[in-house]
Amino acid sequence: MNKLYDAAQAVNSRSAGFAPDRSMSSQDLVHAVLGDITLDLGFGGRGCQSSHLGTTTCNPADMDVGLLLHEFGHHFDWGLGGGPSADLAEGEITDTAGNHVTGKDPDIEDFQRTFSGYRCSSVPCVYAGKKHPQWNTPYEDFADMYSNWTTRGFADDIGGAGSARNIWMEVHMPGWLAEIFGP
Ligand SMILES: [Zn+2]
Repeated sequence: MNKLYDAAQAVNSRSAGFAPDRSMSSQDLVHAVLGDITLDLGFGGRGCQSSHLGTTTCNPADMDVGLLLHEFGHHFDWGLGGGPSADLAEGEITDTAGNHVTGKDPDIEDFQRTFSGYRCSSVPCVYAGKKHPQWNTPYEDFADMYSNWTTRGFADDIGGAGSARNIWMEVHMPGWLAEIFGP
């Protein structure tokens, strides 16, 4: 269960600065941020699946920290009533040259994700790559962004798509965590 501990620890270290009560234990803090999650290790398919708030089932053979954080991203999103993925769907992230990265693409007036800004377009950089039936949704791109924000895994590319994704997370995180912790 070290991977679960490492994933929870990553959430703790990235979120702790936003908690108004600095004496909060790391366990309480992660619990506040992600809610109650029951992890079932009996999944017979590949990877993990989180079908609703509070439950994740995983195949232990495929479980890694990035994947757990992707699933935690879904719980974080759901715990906030889908606000984070709605923010992603309604806005547009571009790089400094104006290239579309993710969000609402003005060319098609619809949500369109890309894999730019990630270090690769499949595991272990993203967990909803093109083989995933829901890959092109704000829910899956948000979960991949949550995982990469937490591990500081975005492409290190000043002015590029990785920086744009990271900045978007940094800009929104205080507001989302204020909804959880209070102002
Ligand atoms: Zn997912």
